Amino acid sequence: MAYKPRLEPDIIKILRLLNARGNLTEQEKRYFEGKKKGFEGEVFFDQVVTEPLECEGLVINDLLLKFNNTYFQIDTTIIFKDTIKLFDVKNFQGEYYYEEGRFYAINGSERDDPLVQLERCVSHFRQLLYSLGYKGTIEAYVVHVNPEFTLFQVPRTYPIIFPSQLNSLRKKLNNNQLKLNDWHRRLADKLISLHIVESPYDLSPAYDFDSLRKGNNCGRCQSFSITLNDRILTCNNCGHQETVESAILRGIGEIKLLFPEMKITVNVVYEWCGGVWSKWVIRNVLKKHFKATGYGKWCFYE
Ligand SMILES: [Zn+2]
Repeated sequence: MAYKPRLEPDIIKILRLLNARGNLTEQEKRYFEGKKKGFEGEVFFDQVVTEPLECEGLVINDLLLKFNNTYFQIDTTIIFKDTIKLFDVKNFQGEYYYEEGRFYAINGSERDDPLVQLERCVSHFRQLLYSLGYKGTIEAYVVHVNPEFTLFQVPRTYPIIFPSQLNSLRKKLNNNQLKLNDWHRRLADKLISLHIVESPYDLSPAYDFDSLRKGNNCGRCQSFSITLNDRILTCNNCGHQETVESAILRGIGEIKLLFPEMKITVNVVYEWCGGVWSKWVIRNVLKKHFKATGYGKWCFYE
């Protein structure tokens, strides 16, 4: 079990909702696809390599930290007794190559070199760790997880792990038998407490309540083609089923995610769900799961 689990970032959830209920531009759609693909790669890495780690090691997923006014992000950090290992997971697809120390896609266009990003990140992280009293070694790797990734002309000394090496990476990590102590757990807790939740790198498009499409859609595939039968909603696209209560609660969660400042009232939820459910049904769900403040039409739920 990871010491800090990996959760789907809010920016992906927001973009998914906007993609279904709004109009993402082609550029925003590509950004959304890129974010999703990156996250899927990280989840795949977890499944193959760190879940669960059968040795003494604290797995901290998805850290966004700041040192000397510079942000840096680490997909996976593992604290062992005498080493901290960092992994930057990439879900690239296609063919790439190195030439004279630069990183190119096969069509000859230069791309941001993951190793340069990694080096920059390690430099900041090392300074932060030393400031916290850590004196061990730090090892960092770029990990490619996509089986359709190929890299040519790469010196074998580069700290890169390929898809064919993931199983042996898992075995190597699990060989680490040195016992951790409270100091390591305190270091892990400290790093997690320094994690920045709202990433300055996340680019959310502008949106507003009125212009987004209303109505219940499928919680799995986002389709708005839904059939209601005996208080169960069934998606006509993927077959996913959900109770009315669960659909209303999910709708409330969507409003809270997209509009954190908005007060949750019966009318707001009624409108968001497209007027499909009576206000009486919505009020009952709100009363059951939230605390009411105020009365009558000024009543809102927290
Ligand atoms: Zn569906």
